[in-house]
Amino acid sequence: MARTHYIAGNWKMNTSRAEAVKLAQDLVAVLKDKKGKYMIGVPFVYLDAVSQVIKGSNIILGAQDVAATANGAHTGEVSTEMLKDVGVQTVIIGHSERRHEIGESDELINKKVRRCLSEGLDVVLCIGELLADREAGNAETVCAFQLSADLAGVSAEQMAHVTIAYEPVWAIGTGKTATPEDAEAIHKFCREYIAKLYNQKVADETIIQYGGSMKASNAKDLLAQPDIDGGLIGGASLKADTFAPICEF
Ligand code: PEP
Repeated sequence: MARTHYIAGNWKMNTSRAEAVKLAQDLVAVLKDKKGKYMIGVPFVYLDAVSQVIKGSNIILGAQDVAATANGAHTGEVSTEMLKDVGVQTVIIGHSERRHEIGESDELINKKVRRCLSEGLDVVLCIGELLADREAGNAETVCAFQLSADLAGVSAEQMAHVTIAYEPVWAIGTGKTATPEDAEAIHKFCREYIAKLYNQKVADETIIQYGGSMKASNAKDLLAQPDIDGGLIGGASLKADTFAPICEF
């Protein structure tokens, strides 16, 4: 089965309510005739408003995080039930800013992944090495560890609802991008590793996005690589005219 190009925007902790609505309206207009798969990861408090705007469009509503547990006494958390209630279909889990700024562990990330999948939400699981890992020659080891730890207990059938985003931490928001060749090498490694964890069919069908300062000027070469199936875009997703061109390739 051919993998569809999947381009996702991660708005992070940005926009006002009015800006979020306007950006969503602009994206609905510019993406309406495009044939790829598109998602926007919207701040929790604007999900409901954006959901109304993109309803019926070809844009998937994503959240940037989720609680690992069901509704209950968990102050400040946002559950899968709440996300589904406002129309969320997919959740970004394990973003490096949550791993390294908030201190999320692979154990917690795995709980969130399994919670979403068991509740019918799709997942974009972010993995990737720190600069020190890369310089020590450990990029593959880190990605393999994160894949096996974060996907523990996830079945081959459930993998149809999991997208992997390979995001070298040193490339996120820094303007530094992995070369297409370096990114492809890790993507290929991850696909082979998924084949070991599951089977070749799952590996062939899993979409692996690249993330890390992707923009219109470098997206074409990155997306031309055989194992790079899309992008998770931070900075360039905050304006329709910087996001839409990435969706052209
Ligand atoms: C991200 O937030 O996942 C990301 C890749 O950010 P940026 O595109 O700004 O590097």
